[in-house]
Amino acid sequence: MIQGIGAAAGVAIGKAFVLPNWEWSMPDTQVNPVDLAKEFERLYEGIRTSKDEIEFIKKEFREVVGVEESSIFDAHLAILDDPVFMSEIRGIIERQYKAAEVAVKEAIDHFVAMFDLLDDEYMKERAVDIKDVGNRLLKHLLGAPEVTLPADTQPYVLVAKELSPSQLAHLNPTYVLGILTMMGGKTSHASIMARALGIPLIAGLENKLSTPIQTGDMIVMDGETGTVHIQPDELTLKDYSSRRAKQQRKKEQLELLATVQAITKDGVPLRLLGNISSVKELELALKYGAEGVGLFRTEFLYMDRSSFPTEDEQFEVYKHVAEKVGTSSVVIRTLDIGGDKHLDYFQLPEEQNPFLGYRAIRISLDRTDMFKTQMAAILRASHYGSVKIMFPMISSVEEVQAAKALLAEVKAELDARNVPYNREIPVGIMVEVPAAVMIVDLLAEEVDFFSIGTNDLVQYVLAVDRMNEQIAHMYHPYHPAVLRMIRMTVEAARNAGIGVSVCGELAADERSLPLWLEMGVSDLSMSPQALLKVKHRILNTAAAEAKEAAKACFRYRTSEQTEEQLTAFSQRSGVTLGKGKEAKEKTS
Ligand code: PEP
Ligand code: MG
Repeated sequence: MIQGIGAAAGVAIGKAFVLPNWEWSMPDTQVNPVDLAKEFERLYEGIRTSKDEIEFIKKEFREVVGVEESSIFDAHLAILDDPVFMSEIRGIIERQYKAAEVAVKEAIDHFVAMFDLLDDEYMKERAVDIKDVGNRLLKHLLGAPEVTLPADTQPYVLVAKELSPSQLAHLNPTYVLGILTMMGGKTSHASIMARALGIPLIAGLENKLSTPIQTGDMIVMDGETGTVHIQPDELTLKDYSSRRAKQQRKKEQLELLATVQAITKDGVPLRLLGNISSVKELELALKYGAEGVGLFRTEFLYMDRSSFPTEDEQFEVYKHVAEKVGTSSVVIRTLDIGGDKHLDYFQLPEEQNPFLGYRAIRISLDRTDMFKTQMAAILRASHYGSVKIMFPMISSVEEVQAAKALLAEVKAELDARNVPYNREIPVGIMVEVPAAVMIVDLLAEEVDFFSIGTNDLVQYVLAVDRMNEQIAHMYHPYHPAVLRMIRMTVEAARNAGIGVSVCGELAADERSLPLWLEMGVSDLSMSPQALLKVKHRILNTAAAEAKEAAKACFRYRTSEQTEEQLTAFSQRSGVTLGKGKEAKEKTS
């Protein structure tokens, strides 16, 4: 048995396919100084082609796996624009008269060696990204063919030294039973992506193998425990086959819960809703039993195009979602770009602190043409289902009033056009900025519902950038400051008699359930993949006991105490399916 790092859960049994190393050897070609301009042109052409290719992969990946995971490719695009990396390459061509591919190879080697020297997982991951992007660029400069995977006829266990996000994006999950990598760990991009794709992955096998794995070797692996067997004996094979069958049964059992009502053992009902960003995700949410859509992130409609979507284009999508969801409600959030989300055709200013800058409602209230077009589409869709409209990143009463005034203008324009819509469309806001929490009683007078966005609330309350992996360990959703803010919001909603739900990733951490029960929050909105495991937790929990356990959490002085208390409660009250790791990853 070989012990690696279990990075994506699941049991796989199959024949190995060993991916050849993506390493290039090339002569140290010099260029004639008079041909330098030509060499630069070759370099720029290679960069352009590489960028197009990355954009294409990103788009495909976004549709299959999700917006968050596809952002890995934004990091790749940024490397091709990185002034330090590029000036290193240009310098080698210009000063040493080396061919573009030689300069690229030397620059990759230089930066990878530099990052590898640092004893820091984050930096090591950046080295993998540089290698990945650099190799793509080299491939174009050398006109080399892609490393080909076996034709999709026989499922296989993929074995690689390290797997880049680009390579993973090309894999067909139907044929890749599992993945073994020599390098990497749990937080590698490849591991995150494998988890999203549902492919078991074991990393860190370098130095663990006495003989290298050969294509065709029989492999059994368990991505949960990190154990691998090469050419297993009969007994081991039987053991893993039964583990695989058990895992399959567990998955199927969980899927049976899709139509079961989310109600605690002692009869407290909750409503599980889906966070979606596309029609594909809506289908998944409905498949996993979502009772409606608690958050429709509309950014997706604006991405991968060259201009803003028209009113009619948006209307068709919103109407489709509203009709599909039927009598349950759909909360459509107006555009939340800025921060880490960008549109190719809409130039945002370079900002020192984009998350504190020109983002979400701030852009909408500035670009009222675009905002009104979106609101007209949402209003029109409200005629076809139970549609609600929600504004993101609200930090003042004035913002809500300004947004509502524009909504009233759009209503009048639709009246003039004789277009039907729901005049009483409920209007809500995301509560995700600390200022909103501090004036939450005033905001409650302005709107029909609140949705607590814990992803942003945590980053703004704790001043911990949600995208910065270096401080990810400080991103504590269970921080007492966060819990107090959530409670203030819930109480203000109750006092004002308006609705409140939670749509941040904290809702998807099943351990948080006692907190919601104690505060009396019954609507939880989360990514489709989390719905069944949270429902399973609800069905196995007695609300009375959970509330008792949660009371202490509001008195604790540290995040750790709350996390420990909730984890212990979760373990006491039944089977634990994961420990909220997804919640942390998504927000890091
Ligand atoms: C949030 O901030 O918690 C949220 C749900 O919105 P987003 O993740 O899209 O910012
Ligand atoms: Mg947010």
